[in-house]
Amino acid sequence: MELIRRLHLMREAVRKARAEGKKIAFVPTMGALHDGHLALVRRARELGDIVVVSIFVNPEQFGPDEDYDTYPRDLARDTDLCVEEHVDFIFAPDPKEMYPDGFRTYVEVEGLSSILEGASRPGFFRGVCTAVLKLLSVVNPHFAFFGQKDMQQAVIVQTMVRDLNLNVEIVLCPTVRDDDGVALSSRNVRLNVSERVSAMALRRALERGRVLIEDQGVSSVEEVETKVRDVLGADESIKIDYFAVVDPVSLERPETIGGEVLLLLAVWIGQTRLIDNISACPEPPDEAE
Ligand code: AMP
Repeated sequence: MELIRRLHLMREAVRKARAEGKKIAFVPTMGALHDGHLALVRRARELGDIVVVSIFVNPEQFGPDEDYDTYPRDLARDTDLCVEEHVDFIFAPDPKEMYPDGFRTYVEVEGLSSILEGASRPGFFRGVCTAVLKLLSVVNPHFAFFGQKDMQQAVIVQTMVRDLNLNVEIVLCPTVRDDDGVALSSRNVRLNVSERVSAMALRRALERGRVLIEDQGVSSVEEVETKVRDVLGADESIKIDYFAVVDPVSLERPETIGGEVLLLLAVWIGQTRLIDNISACPEPPDEAE
C-alpha cells in the first residue's frame, strides 16, 4: 500500500497501471473510515485490479458555519484499515494543491443541487461535484464507488457523469448499518448515549414509510409524510430538517406513489446533523412479473 499526496504522482501511478491493462477501482472518501466505507472498498476490490481510496476532507463542500475544522480525521487508523483491505493506493491530496490560489472553476448540477440537502446546505453539492470531478480527472478510474447512504449525492454524481460524458462507471453500494439500525457515519462519534438512542428512530421512521407503501398500499404522499414525521416527532430531541418522498431519478415529489420512490430525511439530534434514506416500491420488482 502506498500513500500518495501529490496529484502528478497519483496520475503517474494510474498511468502505469493502465498501461499494464489493469482496471482501476476508486473509492472517494473524507476519511474517518468505518464499515460503510469499507463495504465500498471491498466491492472495489472485487471489480478492480488496483484499488485507490481517496481521503480528502473537501473544504469546498463545507459552509462557513459547518464543521470543516472539527471534521474527524485519523489518517494513521485509516491507513491501517486500508492495509487490511488490500488497498493499493491512498490518495490524500493537500487542499492547497487541489484548490490553488486563483481557483475559480466549479461544477453545478442545476436543480438537483438546490433541493433537500442542497436547500439546507447551500453550495454543498457544488463543492462535492467539483471535488469528485477533479478526483476522477486525476485518478482516471474505470469504476467509482458511492454509498446509497448519501443517495442525493449519488444521483447528482451519476447525473454529472452522464451530462459531462465522463468515462467512468458509477457503482452504488447499499447503506451499511449498525445492529441498532443506525446508518454508519463518521459523525456518529459525536452522539452521546441518549442521542444515539434517538438516532435509532431514523431507520424506524423510514421503515414505517416503507411498510405503508409496500405492505399497506398507501399511495398518498401526504399520508406517508405525516406518519413518518409522527414517528420522528415522538422523540422530542429530534429536530426534523426535512423529510421527503421523491422520484429516484428527478428527486421531485410525485403526485401519488405509483412506482419506486426514495424516502429521504435529515434531522438534528443535539449538535449533530444526520441523514438517512430508504427506497420503497409499491410492487417490488421481483414480484411484479
Ligand atoms: P464520506 O467519507 O462521508 O464522504 O463518504 C464516502 C463514501 O462512503 C460516500 O460514497 C458515502 O455515501 C459512503 N458511505 C458513507 N457512509 C456509508 C454507509 N453507512 N453505508 C454505505 N456507504 C457509506
